[in-house]
Amino acid sequence: MNSSPPTRIVILGGGWGGVATARRLERLLRGRTDVEVTLISRDNYFLVTPLLFEACSGTLELRHCSISVRESLETTSFIEATVQQVDFDQRVVEATAAGGTTHQVAYDQLVLTLGSVTKQRIPGSEHALTFKTMADALLLRNHFIECFERASAETDPGRRQALLTFIVVGGGLVGVELFGELTAFRDNIARYYPGISRAEVRFRLFEYGPRILPEVDAGLASYAVRVLERRSGAAIRAGTPVLEIRERALRTADETIESETIILCAGILPSPTAAGLEIDRDRRGHLSVDATMRSRSHPNVWALGDCASIPGPDGRPYPYLAQHALREARTLAHNLCAALAGGKPKPFLYGSLGTMASLGHATGLARILGLRLTGFPAWWFRRTYYLFQMPHWSRRMRIVADWTIALLFRPDISKVDLADERALLARNTPAGNARTSPPKEKDSSAAGGRSPN
Ligand SMILES: Cc1cc2nc3c(=O)[nH]c(=O)nc-3n(C[C@H](O)[C@H](O)[C@H](O)COP(=O)(O)OP(=O)(O)OC[C@H]3O[C@@H](n4cnc5c(N)ncnc54)[C@H](O)[C@@H]3O)c2cc1C
Repeated sequence: MNSSPPTRIVILGGGWGGVATARRLERLLRGRTDVEVTLISRDNYFLVTPLLFEACSGTLELRHCSISVRESLETTSFIEATVQQVDFDQRVVEATAAGGTTHQVAYDQLVLTLGSVTKQRIPGSEHALTFKTMADALLLRNHFIECFERASAETDPGRRQALLTFIVVGGGLVGVELFGELTAFRDNIARYYPGISRAEVRFRLFEYGPRILPEVDAGLASYAVRVLERRSGAAIRAGTPVLEIRERALRTADETIESETIILCAGILPSPTAAGLEIDRDRRGHLSVDATMRSRSHPNVWALGDCASIPGPDGRPYPYLAQHALREARTLAHNLCAALAGGKPKPFLYGSLGTMASLGHATGLARILGLRLTGFPAWWFRRTYYLFQMPHWSRRMRIVADWTIALLFRPDISKVDLADERALLARNTPAGNARTSPPKEKDSSAAGGRSPN
């Protein structure tokens, strides 16, 4: 009888990279009892980020752009907890669960895939909303509807204009897709606000670089500008650095715009937890790994996804995208198993299949395997692709039902104000029994909801 303890693989982070690594390990290690895999993540779901835009506008039920981690895994143990630190000498991870319980989890092999947070380099970034998590999408949706509600009753022209001005900072894929979705959202809800003309609502997108969408060729980027600027009140300013964000305003070199809604989509930085670890990192805090995704300083530590800098064949790091994180996860799982068997890990090699973006109003753009698509076909292809990325038919059917309902019926503009709900709960709870204290501000979304990452 073999009495040696099993090898412990611990994965930190249950997003695209973490869940895909665990699933591939389950396949590779099927039937083996000498290896245990544990996944620790702050949330018990992972977010299908390309669907977050539609979840924000309400085309998709918010929960339907997420997948339960437990549902995705078969033999992997799951712990819902926030990783605090890793003791690389003792090989122990410390994580805290929601109720305050501290977990000390020992490992033999560690996989770090803790994702990223929105870059907040512009002075005053704390006044801006972010768009990275499910909470961000909910806060933005509530805030957007609230701006229309308040504007419809506002008599001061300046305040009304600020309420009806929506600014996106950052012209990469996320910023442009969000901009497109918000203009479409405005068009869909406009009928409920007869006192507000479409022309009164302004959308601005500011991009530091010379053009938007550096991820695609210049032709597709110009197409996006043409489509978006045809929408009433929409303007895109490339080559325009934002110098400062204030509580209700944004400043560039030649103008200051009053706005209640400034959304920051100007790049990402690795998760602060990952960037704070005592392990080899690059200048920006990305975990420094070789081409096999093994840490340069700790051979039993591996990293992938948004928190890692994985060199490609030309020495430049791979882009921080879900399509890459998924493929990295598969190679990493193979490499880990090879390392356990005393074999040689192989480098990660991947040529992108292409790029797709939705611009709202059933329009999109895509370059897939060299093929260029625009308009409805690109939008349809993107939607169908992400639908089939969902792991179960039950989830796919729910998404199709949401899309069909959105096509046939008017949009829902109910606003679930969580801050107000909490205040109400606290008021209705006898003193001493209050489980939550009322928030200081009426609505945290209006004050600039922040990504909890
Ligand atoms: C709105 C949006 C749209 C996008 N669209 C696309 C797209 O169309 N195509 C594409 O390829 N890419 C897209 N991306 C990028 C893609 O989402 C990321 O590249 C991908 O999520 C990276 O995977 P990851 O596993 O590294 O990180 P994530 O998927 O972010 O997972 C990180 C996980 O770690 C957990 N975590 C973080 N800190 C801790 C902690 N301290 N303790 C415990 N757990 C922790 C998080 O809860 C999360 O579950 C988009 C991103 C955004 C924000």
